Amino acid sequence: MDVQFLGGAREVGRSAVLIDDRLLIDYGMQAGTPPQFPVGDVDPDAVVASHGHLDHVGAIPALVSDDGRPPIHWTPPTRELALTLARDTLKLHGGTFRCPFTEIDVERVTQASRTHGYREPFEAAGYEITFYNAGHIPGSAHVLVDDGETRLLYTGDFHTDDQRLVAGTTARPDADVVICESTYSDVSHANRADVEDRFIRSVETTLWEGGTVVVPAFAIGRTQELLLVCAAHDVPCYVDGMGKGVTEMLRHHPAFVRDAEALRRTTSHARFVTGRDGQRTRITDQRAAIVTTSGMLSGGPAMTYIPEIRSNPVNKITMTGYQVEGTPGRELLETGSAEIDGRMMPVSAQLEQYDFSAHADREGLRSFLEPYVESGSRILVVHGDRCRAFADALSTASGDASAPAVGETLHLGS
Ligand SMILES: [Zn+2]
Repeated sequence: MDVQFLGGAREVGRSAVLIDDRLLIDYGMQAGTPPQFPVGDVDPDAVVASHGHLDHVGAIPALVSDDGRPPIHWTPPTRELALTLARDTLKLHGGTFRCPFTEIDVERVTQASRTHGYREPFEAAGYEITFYNAGHIPGSAHVLVDDGETRLLYTGDFHTDDQRLVAGTTARPDADVVICESTYSDVSHANRADVEDRFIRSVETTLWEGGTVVVPAFAIGRTQELLLVCAAHDVPCYVDGMGKGVTEMLRHHPAFVRDAEALRRTTSHARFVTGRDGQRTRITDQRAAIVTTSGMLSGGPAMTYIPEIRSNPVNKITMTGYQVEGTPGRELLETGSAEIDGRMMPVSAQLEQYDFSAHADREGLRSFLEPYVESGSRILVVHGDRCRAFADALSTASGDASAPAVGETLHLGS
């Protein structure tokens, strides 16, 4: 089995792994300026996607833009999320170099789509493939690839701890080789219940004082998690941006969330913002939490809310995810002001950050990999800023671990 790393190796973004030149796992894009796509020209016989985040599925429609029509295998939520992301990319960048596909390609994706549940083996490009719940976002999967001689486990993004939206991964299928993400290989997350407690107490304090809390959140996973948190503690909340549609969509896939009934209660608890008739401006004097995209303040309805609430120090902005360097969200946390919608804005409202991560931390990665290291599996570390350091640490712990580079091809097994 030959494995080539086309992206997402010693970096985060544009994840793509090609097996024997015919099976492609993930085909993501990194939405920076300029955007980045996996390297090389690929013409796979089949495509498998681990989960519906932009850096794993964002470029998939480009695979059906020529004559090739490889079947695309994924779980039902991953299909929906990939299509949502593709339409969003078209809306933002369609017709420019930032968007490597057209509306017609996105339509073709729906024809090439093949959906599968967890633990239901299927055949793709001559391999037996099985998905296992990865506990990252709804529909996220570990991908097991078996060619009859070598069993390769591609972890995709995963979390070992439970979140309200999805339960943590428990599957540890036998594998000779593990391609493992390492986003938080040098971080220990605080206990999730404590993070949630601090967040809720902070929001409640602001509401008691008569303020409004803007909660920037990623549309996929994070928005629903925060709505679940607000509903569980009976905190009044609005939801706005792309996260609205994602929340509605997930209600139709109850098998892929941890507690479908809780998600149903949450969608009746949260008020969905239509944005009509100046509604956004009006609700900024409500004593409520407004959960909205974008998570790093680079666009979305947050561009309306932040200017409205920023000058009153009773109000609060709580960032809920990792802020990439160079984004307005990062700038705001570091300097107290940020360029919002083209204007430099100082912010007097209170600023806070919470670690609601959907990835395993250092201890989670170690515990996930432990049985594989012990049984002598080969570990290939990807999807992180410190892949080589983590691989070295695993090797010292008597494992066989390395961190391949983008473009590198490895021969595995016999
Ligand atoms: Zn992800």
